[in-house]
Amino acid sequence: MHELPLVRNLLTLILDRAEEAEAEQVVAIELSVGELCDAQPDWIGRYFRLAAKGTIAEDAELRFSVSEARSACSACGREFRPSLGTRARIRCPFCGSDECGLSGGMDYRINSMEVR
Ligand SMILES: [Zn+2]
Repeated sequence: MHELPLVRNLLTLILDRAEEAEAEQVVAIELSVGELCDAQPDWIGRYFRLAAKGTIAEDAELRFSVSEARSACSACGREFRPSLGTRARIRCPFCGSDECGLSGGMDYRINSMEVR
């Protein structure tokens, strides 16, 4: 389970931002989660409720959006959508090279948040 430290990080970021905005309450948070990220939205939500208890983000509504993974081939320079569900080497569908890197789809970030 990677969700708990991830959620603690998120919560720290959220509370920092809320403090900067001199907010009294965090109303809603929109998170973007990469589709290859190990953390699943419903688990993030569950842990968030636990971690945020007693903070001004305790009743915040969580919204998730999934960001797509992209891969770029360093042999032919083309971009494509890697096939998911496998951690095996990604192969370029255009030239067959396995010199492909992932860009995006593995991280998470706060898209926006609503405070009052
Ligand atoms: Zn290629």
